[in-house]
Amino acid sequence: MTASSYTNTQLLIANEWVDAASGKTIDVRNPATGQVIGTVAHAGIVDLDRALAAAQKGFEVWRDTSVYERVAVMRRAAGLLRERADGIARLLTQEQGKPLVEARGEVMAGADIIEWFADEGRRVYGRIVPGRNVAAQQLVIKEPVGPVAAFTPWNFPVNQIVRKIGAALATGCSFLCKAPEETPAAPAALLRCFVDAGAPAGVVGLVFGNPAEISEYLIPHPVIRKVTFTGSTPVGKMLAGLAGQHMKRVTMELGGHAPVIVAEDADVELAVKAAGAAKFRNAGQVCISPTRFLVHSSLVNEFSKAFTKHAQALKLGDGLAEGTTLGPLANPRRVTAMAKVVEDARQRGAEILTGGERVGEAGNFFAPTLIGNIGTDSDLFNNEPFGPIAGIRAFDRLEEAIAEANRLPYGLAAYAFTKSFKNVQLLSNKVEAGMLWINQPATPSAELPFGGIKDSGYGTEGGPEAMEAYLNTKAVSVVGI
Ligand code: NAD
Repeated sequence: MTASSYTNTQLLIANEWVDAASGKTIDVRNPATGQVIGTVAHAGIVDLDRALAAAQKGFEVWRDTSVYERVAVMRRAAGLLRERADGIARLLTQEQGKPLVEARGEVMAGADIIEWFADEGRRVYGRIVPGRNVAAQQLVIKEPVGPVAAFTPWNFPVNQIVRKIGAALATGCSFLCKAPEETPAAPAALLRCFVDAGAPAGVVGLVFGNPAEISEYLIPHPVIRKVTFTGSTPVGKMLAGLAGQHMKRVTMELGGHAPVIVAEDADVELAVKAAGAAKFRNAGQVCISPTRFLVHSSLVNEFSKAFTKHAQALKLGDGLAEGTTLGPLANPRRVTAMAKVVEDARQRGAEILTGGERVGEAGNFFAPTLIGNIGTDSDLFNNEPFGPIAGIRAFDRLEEAIAEANRLPYGLAAYAFTKSFKNVQLLSNKVEAGMLWINQPATPSAELPFGGIKDSGYGTEGGPEAMEAYLNTKAVSVVGI
């Protein structure tokens, strides 16, 4: 496949790939060049109605399909995803920008996650509860919640869907996804794997269009029984509010603002390597990307120098080009946002250690940027930058760093580096986050919970807890007569 072989994307309704009834499309651009590379179908209400009817039918079939057959379909889909990984990764890089090696890694990780959820589907057990009346048999039964509406973002076009579709399909729900209009081809290629693997019509569906119009139609719709969203906190709060009005089950994976605490006894080399990798993966457009580096004052100079060297060694370029380690930002909005963050820091007297500006005229390239001596009142230390920018601040007592880590309303990921068990205990007990990685980069995996607290949302998209989010619990008490 060459750069020019990017494919246009249609809607997936009842296992058929179709244009929007209106024929309307949206342009898709390559963030490395700014050029239009294809189009995606723009669904209207008539298309959504067809997709909803298919999701209802798909649910009725899938709910009554044996879990062993469901597992077989999901495992076949994971196998197809692996077989097609190279082609899908090239689509993903062209529409999203990340280096090809990261795109391929995302697709392969997706296959792993689907398999894990498939297997977990075999272990959706109920309970038998001893009765007060000895003649009664009391059963606790787990049932799929129903057709799911999923809203997924552009930063991980495959993986943001995979965590949702894995749990939904493994529990017997059908899955209707509004995937990102900016990166539609990789999601379509992912869902094609499920269709080709034998998922019955309507079990999976895919639509694109105007995000607000689609969410306002799908969430209140009686067919939809569960809503799952990954994206920004303001949009998440709005969608959770709408879902609440219609009493729909909700999982919300929202923004984060991860702190990295480098304690007095940390291994600085490890901290730079691990947290540096976490910071610049996908050009920082990651909800668990670390932004607030809180470094013990005795190490701050050494750490800043080493981190600057790490950032300057990154190779910025087109994700398809050999050797690129940092791609463009996914859209021009992010370049504007980065420039604003840097300008705010400059005006407040912070020190730009490296980067700080856009690179080149074409495409959305922004230099990896580190800002030292940054104030807690800065834009960078309060709002999620969602880009390749980090700030460094010194602390003297670990308790101070923990207080700063917990200061923001976000509570998604956090990182720490220390050699002492006492510090590990304090950090584990006191840091307010859904995920805490100590002495390592982020290692999210299917079997571990993935989710946040506070304004970062609720619910989790990993581990057995992720399955619960797609299940209803029913109590049945039977007296034999
Ligand atoms: P945005 O807030 O406009 O959109 C974020 C996501 O929500 C997009 O995928 C968008 O299509 C979707 N969305 C927006 N309005 C919607 C609506 N009314 N109904 C349904 N979906 C809707 O911002 P953006 O410029 O696309 O992204 C920037 C911000 O979004 C970042 O600063 C970051 O906080 C957040 N974001 C978070 C994640 C994540 O993994 N948690 C992923 C992508 C973006």
